[in-house]
Amino acid sequence: MNGSRAVRVSVAGSVSEYSLREDVRERATGIGLRGWVRSTDEGTLSAHLEGAPTAIDDLIAWLGSVPEVASVSEQTVRVEGHEQFAIRGVPAGVFVVQEHQATAHHFDFRLEVDGVMRSWAVPKGPSMDPTVKRLAVEVEDHSLGHNEFEGLAGGGGVIIWDRGSYEQGGRVPWPEALERGHAVFVLHGEKLSGGFALQRTGGGAKPQWLLIKRRDEQARRGSDVAAERPESVHSGRTLDELLGR
Ligand code: MN
Repeated sequence: MNGSRAVRVSVAGSVSEYSLREDVRERATGIGLRGWVRSTDEGTLSAHLEGAPTAIDDLIAWLGSVPEVASVSEQTVRVEGHEQFAIRGVPAGVFVVQEHQATAHHFDFRLEVDGVMRSWAVPKGPSMDPTVKRLAVEVEDHSLGHNEFEGLAGGGGVIIWDRGSYEQGGRVPWPEALERGHAVFVLHGEKLSGGFALQRTGGGAKPQWLLIKRRDEQARRGSDVAAERPESVHSGRTLDELLGR
């Protein structure tokens, strides 16, 4: 993107209303800017603006004119190649991880996307260690109703190993990010939290992906959460206890 620049903007004032983030997104999109806006824990707004320098100046001038805004500070940052202007920090839906003893033992990792649970079978389970890449084999979508299932099934069994909400992230809008084979998201579960990425490595009938913890404050190097926290977040029992072994 020739002539593009990028700035990180911090906006202080009475700016925690959701409608202001919507206004920022609408205005930014309308003048061809890309990036994101999010609320921070400190009650400010943080925004990443990418595009033509005149459009960036226009948006910052408009922000300064909003009555609720007390101050706007900006810092030049690297252009990241965003393809949308997104509101970050807003849950996109639910996620669930179901530990499943079938013919083979695995964890089913499921993300709500457009009304269904997109699903991956992860033989070794998710990890909170960012140096660990876990194979995740894409499997058929499941219904949201299946998220509640825990019990014996088909000679094996299922426990609800983790669940919560998640945020869609990355530079590309969803579900296109999944179609392109690189999706970034933030989990808010009881065991899994913070940023993760799914990266497709192979196609075919059951495409192979890698599930990778991103490097952030929630990451725990050297940990193996699947082994350390075997219990169901629904019942407290382990899969072995459910199966009576
Ligand atoms: Mn399964």
